[in-house]
Amino acid sequence: MRVFVDGVPVYFPYAYMYPEQYVYMCELKRALDARGHCVLEMPTGTGKTVTLLSFICSYQLIRPEVSKLIYCTRTVGEMDKVLQELKRVLQYRNEQLQAENALTENIQKMMAVGLTTRRNLCLHPAVKNAESREEADATCRSMTASWVRAHYSKEQEQAAHTPVESSNAVDIEDLGNSSSKLCGFYENFEKDGRDAILPSGVYTLDSMIEFSKEKGWCPYYTARHAINIANIIVYNYQYLID
Ligand code: SF4
Repeated sequence: MRVFVDGVPVYFPYAYMYPEQYVYMCELKRALDARGHCVLEMPTGTGKTVTLLSFICSYQLIRPEVSKLIYCTRTVGEMDKVLQELKRVLQYRNEQLQAENALTENIQKMMAVGLTTRRNLCLHPAVKNAESREEADATCRSMTASWVRAHYSKEQEQAAHTPVESSNAVDIEDLGNSSSKLCGFYENFEKDGRDAILPSGVYTLDSMIEFSKEKGWCPYYTARHAINIANIIVYNYQYLID
């Protein structure tokens, strides 16, 4: 359905809207218009997420300068639910705009991405299977820190100048193995991903892993790269304050 909230046409992907949802949107608009802060509460199960996402995604159409929404969640499960809901909201909005002949290329370019810890967005077996977040972070850093990479390059250079039988050179193909000193996914990302323009769309955690796997890039660093250009970022509260 399309509903007008103080003059803003809002595309809402369900056939019915609770009065609380409409009031929530009105208050949200007041805060955004005033460029201020607000604290809004709604009872559990009344559809806060879809209300907020529908309103913001429609508000951005008339106020493109409101270009970034940062949505914080407590758990990874909640993060994924928000991204799934966002997919539905954007799909409905774009279908309606298409029917009204108002779907521009710019609107279609919208990007949303979820960012979580390395352990949840990793392809390297040694990090993926780590027992704690701290262990995962430390193992990843031990393969990606600038000094480790510089040391490895130096070793490779020296190996290139020694006879083949005594060389310690490691094939780039082996870098993704848990026994290697560097992470091949990170190296590939540094080589091809850091300056790449990512296709628009909503990247759930699974779709970010799939996309990165196809490219051979690290999903965690790809997601971090994507947040610079994404219109909507969904991540953990801890990231905001850490
Ligand atoms: S760089 Fe990425 S893929 Fe490699 S270990 Fe770290 S998080 Fe995992």
